Amino acid sequence: MIKIDGKTAAARVRAQVAAEVALLDDKPGLATVLVGDDPASAVYVASKRKAVREAGMRDLHRSLPADSSQAGVAAVIDELAADPAVHGILLQLPLPAHLDPDALIDRIPVGKDVDGLTTQSAGLLARGEYGLRPCTPSGVIELLESEGVKMRGARAVVVGRSALVGHPMAEMLTQKDATVTLAHKHTVDLPAVTREADILVVAAGVRGLIGPAHVKPGATVIDVGIHRFEGGLAGDVRTAELEGIAARVTPVPGGVGPMTIAMLMVNTVRAARWAEEHNGHSMTP
Ligand code: NAD
Repeated sequence: MIKIDGKTAAARVRAQVAAEVALLDDKPGLATVLVGDDPASAVYVASKRKAVREAGMRDLHRSLPADSSQAGVAAVIDELAADPAVHGILLQLPLPAHLDPDALIDRIPVGKDVDGLTTQSAGLLARGEYGLRPCTPSGVIELLESEGVKMRGARAVVVGRSALVGHPMAEMLTQKDATVTLAHKHTVDLPAVTREADILVVAAGVRGLIGPAHVKPGATVIDVGIHRFEGGLAGDVRTAELEGIAARVTPVPGGVGPMTIAMLMVNTVRAARWAEEHNGHSMTP
């Protein structure tokens, strides 16, 4: 069983981004927006900002207090949206409970939507049109491609249908010509469904959900789940139990996680290039 090395793949993608950025006169700028002081969010934002600087891009971070109003956060997003030095805007989720995340995300212009989470970006993905795609499923596609996993004609099962991971993942695999089943918490007999999969992507957020009974011999298993516990990090897949069954698996940590940040860097450069090609105007489809 091959353990897919997401760290090395992510380092390669980030080096490609840095090489591309070095050739640009106008360095791409990413504005991360962090509202409040959720410790996990602070860690995620810090690693995104570090990756931005390491790629030679401009780190245009904004920190807002936890008691910020909806109108206050909206005003910051509108300001970043209008600023030509800002090529990408990333609103770190989750937001404090009194804020409506969807309404705020939809203020991000589609050309600066480096997380690919606006309604408009989701629509472009659904129609297979040019746009910025959510980073985690993009990272999964990149890993499958770099491992030489054939997607055309493959049976793929995605477990989880969130707007962040599962749903766009199913769309992207479909566009790679896989035959895709989208499973979720109401799926009856999950093991029978997942055993059909040549490519099994698990994004359920349930630690250890997937074991040997769920996996077809020779399958590629991509574990998106991340669970923090005292001993470290674990995924949705009981990876060690798949030895002798799966052909390839992604470990947690060191699998999909590092790819998410790498694809955010790719999206930021893509957004900046698009703005440049359209005389500073952001992407409009
Ligand atoms: P979510 O809670 O929004 O969605 C979970 C989905 O899984 C839902 O559609 C639900 O129907 C389905 N589900 C839940 N229990 C199930 C079950 N028992 N059987 C089948 N389906 C079930 O979660 P999310 O935001 O999509 O994240 C999923 C996991 O991926 C989490 O562990 C999260 O931490 C992780 N994640 C990792 C990255 C990364 O960079 N690696 C990025 C985003 C999310």
